[in-house]
Amino acid sequence: MTHAAYHITEETLLSYAAGMLAEAPAVAVAAHLPGCARCRSAVAALEIVGGTLLDEIAPAPMSSNALSLVLARL
Ligand SMILES: [Zn+2]
Repeated sequence: MTHAAYHITEETLLSYAAGMLAEAPAVAVAAHLPGCARCRSAVAALEIVGGTLLDEIAPAPMSSNALSLVLARL
């Protein structure tokens, strides 16, 4: 498959890149990407943007019991 007959919407690609897409549509996107350079490069660009945004968020101080709270939820 070298040419896709349709493309994933930008909103769906953004959710996919952010890991926020539900399982069924995520599987559909994952199946589409190997055959579509256009959507692959869009996801790559969105992942770079998402990573940059994370880098620019100021680190928030964590409470002293944050680790035990996380461990309690495991
Ligand atoms: Zn596509």
